[in-house]
Amino acid sequence: MEPKEIVAALRAEAAALGIARLGVARAAARDRDRLDAWLAAGRHGAMAYMAREPAVRADPGRLLPGARAVISVAVHHDPGEAAPPPPTVARIARYARSDDYHRLLHRLLRRLVDRLDGLAPGHRQRICVDTAPLLERAHAVAAGIGWIGKHTCLVHPHAGSYFLLGEIVTTAPLPANTPMADHCGTCRRCLDACPTGALVAPHELDARRCISYWTIEHRGDLPAEAKGSLHGWVFGCDLCQEVCPFNRFAPTGHPDLAPRPGLERPELAALAAATAQSFKGQFRGTPVVRAGKQQMGRNFLAAAPAAVKKYGGG
Ligand code: SF4
Ligand code: SF4
Repeated sequence: MEPKEIVAALRAEAAALGIARLGVARAAARDRDRLDAWLAAGRHGAMAYMAREPAVRADPGRLLPGARAVISVAVHHDPGEAAPPPPTVARIARYARSDDYHRLLHRLLRRLVDRLDGLAPGHRQRICVDTAPLLERAHAVAAGIGWIGKHTCLVHPHAGSYFLLGEIVTTAPLPANTPMADHCGTCRRCLDACPTGALVAPHELDARRCISYWTIEHRGDLPAEAKGSLHGWVFGCDLCQEVCPFNRFAPTGHPDLAPRPGLERPELAALAAATAQSFKGQFRGTPVVRAGKQQMGRNFLAAAPAAVKKYGGG
């Protein structure tokens, strides 16, 4: 089978699996300079894992010797509500309101690898879903999945940015797609909407000032500047994506990533009063468990307005 026919067959398989987009990039080193500059400025904060193996992170050829192509896929999660909730609601990033996406993405990519094994026997593949150090956005851009918006997330002109990425690095010589042009233009809504100044310039995120980093990655006590600045977010933050005009018509999510009942608009007071048992019952199997009950308790109390803190015992 011709390489371009293989990609067409993979794309058809992906569509049947509910994968919104599939693109192919040449397996080349990408964005190493940008990564090095970000790390050198300390903008990764305490995410030490980001500084590990930068050469591997930038170059899929180091992840899988002999790699010829990177297949990127995008799977939509739920686009959530358009209107902001009242201040008594705990805001959870849209991608985290459902079952953990890692298992789904891994299962979908496994199906694509099985298909590829049949179409191009004798090649090797490696699946990446946050499990291997790879600068996935850089490869997704090269694969034509979207462009990196000024808020640093990947954006597609017809599908916005509410999607998750996964990759297959392969030794099969598949033809690359054309990278997509940047459509941000003069827009700066995401920069203006960020309440903490974490977007220090277009395409430049200082994680140390980001609500998402504070609520998910930061261990121990919250830094002083975070207290009173969570704007109701207890796990992640979507504010810079909510204002993006390309998310106005974001499609519905993959059916396996439907939000769990009670996680779209949970009451902060109820969460602040959660026991270890009720926390487990509510969040088991979601990305939120990554933060753990103690850290989430810290976030619930920090995000809660005074009246809620009193009610929740904080
Ligand atoms: S996720 Fe929130 S805090 Fe972080 S850059 Fe976007 S708007 Fe700012
Ligand atoms: S809000 Fe505007 S500047 Fe930001 S990513 Fe969307 S289009 Fe680009």
